[in-house]
Amino acid sequence: MTRNPLVLILFGPPGCGKGTQGARLATHYDIPSISTGDILRQAAREGTPLGEEAKGFMDAGKLVPDEVMLGLIGERLKQKDAGKGFILDGFPRTIVQAEGLARVLDRGGFAVTRVVELEVERDLLVDRLTSRRVCSRCGATFNVRTLPPPPEGACADESVGCKGEDIVQREDDKAETVGKRLDVYAESTAPLLTFYGDRGLLASVDGSSSPDEVFRRITAEIG
Ligand code: AMP
Repeated sequence: MTRNPLVLILFGPPGCGKGTQGARLATHYDIPSISTGDILRQAAREGTPLGEEAKGFMDAGKLVPDEVMLGLIGERLKQKDAGKGFILDGFPRTIVQAEGLARVLDRGGFAVTRVVELEVERDLLVDRLTSRRVCSRCGATFNVRTLPPPPEGACADESVGCKGEDIVQREDDKAETVGKRLDVYAESTAPLLTFYGDRGLLASVDGSSSPDEVFRRITAEIG
C-alpha cells in the first residue's frame, strides 16, 4: 500500500516545543521540517529584502503580513525536498494563511494530513521562552536552567566555528515581548484550532511532558 506524503502541521503557542519536536520528527520520517521563523531569522541575518521587511515585525512580537508569508511558503514548498512530504513549524498562523496553504497544497496534489497541537500552560511558556538562548550562527537552542550552553559558551559543533558570543537571547524572547507574542497567538492563531478541528484534522498532545514523551505521543497520533 502506498501512503500519501505526510503533511504535518505542528501547532501551538511560542515555546510549546514545535522546533524541538519538528527536528526530531524530520529525522524520524525523513522529511524536512520547515520553520517559517527560522527562514525569516536567516533572511534578517543576511539582510535580504525579505529579512529587512520582516525584522521589525519579529522584534516587536507581531506577525509578518499574510501576503509576505504566503509568498515565502509558496517558494519553499516548490523546493525538491518538500516533494516527499514535510512538517510545518510556525505556519499557518492566521485563517488567511491556512486558506492560502490549502490552495498551494491543492495545486501540488497535496493536502494537510494532520495538525498536532502541543498544549502548554501560559506560565510554563513564559518560563521556557525567557530562559531560552540560541546560537545566532548555527541555530542550536539552549536553556539557562535546563540545558545551559557549554561553559566556554561555544556550541558543540566545532566545524561550524561557533563562539561564545554567538549565543544570545532572541530579541523576541525578552520578557517584554513574550507576553505580546502569546497574546497574538491567542487572538490570531488559536482560531485555527476550530478551523482544523472542523475538518477532522486536529489532535492535541500535552506538550509539558519530557521531549521523549511528547515525541512518543505525536508519533502515536500520526500512526
Ligand atoms: P517563531 O520562531 O515561529 O516563533 O517565529 C518568530 C517570529 O517570526 C514571529 O513572532 C513572527 O514575527 C514571525 N513569523 C514566523 N512565522 C510566521 C507566520 N506564519 N506568520 C506571520 N509571522 C510569522
